Amino acid sequence: MLTMDHIYKQFGDLVVLKDISLNVEQGKVVVIIGPSGSGKTTLLRCLNVLERPESGSVTIDQQTLNFTKKLTKKQIRDFRKQSGMVFQTYNLFPHLSVIQNVMEGPVTVQKVDKNKARDKAAELLTKVGLQEKMYEYPYKLSGGQQQRVGIARAMAIDPKVMLFDEPTSALDPELVGEVLRVMKGLANEGRTMVVVTHEMKFAKEVADEVIFMDDGVIVERGAPSVLFEHPKEQRTRQFLNMIN
Ligand code: ADP
Repeated sequence: MLTMDHIYKQFGDLVVLKDISLNVEQGKVVVIIGPSGSGKTTLLRCLNVLERPESGSVTIDQQTLNFTKKLTKKQIRDFRKQSGMVFQTYNLFPHLSVIQNVMEGPVTVQKVDKNKARDKAAELLTKVGLQEKMYEYPYKLSGGQQQRVGIARAMAIDPKVMLFDEPTSALDPELVGEVLRVMKGLANEGRTMVVVTHEMKFAKEVADEVIFMDDGVIVERGAPSVLFEHPKEQRTRQFLNMIN
């Protein structure tokens, strides 16, 4: 479903991703962990072409972008529609109601009929447990509720892959659970997901595969039971000891 092939990304002289290749099968959940500054967010942003790698390619489903070639805006736009991204800060439009926030992408980007988009948005908001809040404005919602709107919004374009960039790290601790529960629900539905998170319990319970990154490379990857219980690499062990 999703492939990254020999991705290099640098900011000025700083090489942030060094020959990253990975593969996520349909319906699988991959969790990326690693120290701050190791390149996790940049990797995710390259998958959505919010950052443009220097070389390598990414494929989602049947579409490939080869970054060594010249790419048109349309190619990038079309590619982006295949993934839904959930950010650390939810950035909802403050002047739009919750349901309008969720309809915005389908209506403006995909030119979906408004009634259809509204029905779909209502369905998604019900799925994330916010049917009561559809007509509220974002400022009336807690951080956890806003992030659940963020998830519904990312799903509204029917993405093939969901990308989560530390979706709970800006939340008060008591609000983390409700967001993780929604994410777990999506995983159980068989959605293909790539999740950058510091929530190790979530990684252990939900991930099919965990990737440990450090200094722009994938140091180690494996099933959570293996990576957490029997890490092979010294760097992985050090990181896990630090956070435990
Ligand atoms: P992580 O998500 O693992 O914390 P990031 O992908 O955010 O790591 O960052 C990796 C490295 O790239 C860091 O050294 C960070 O300072 C640098 N970096 C990230 N974004 C930019 C940018 N837009 N310009 C310059 N440097 C950046």
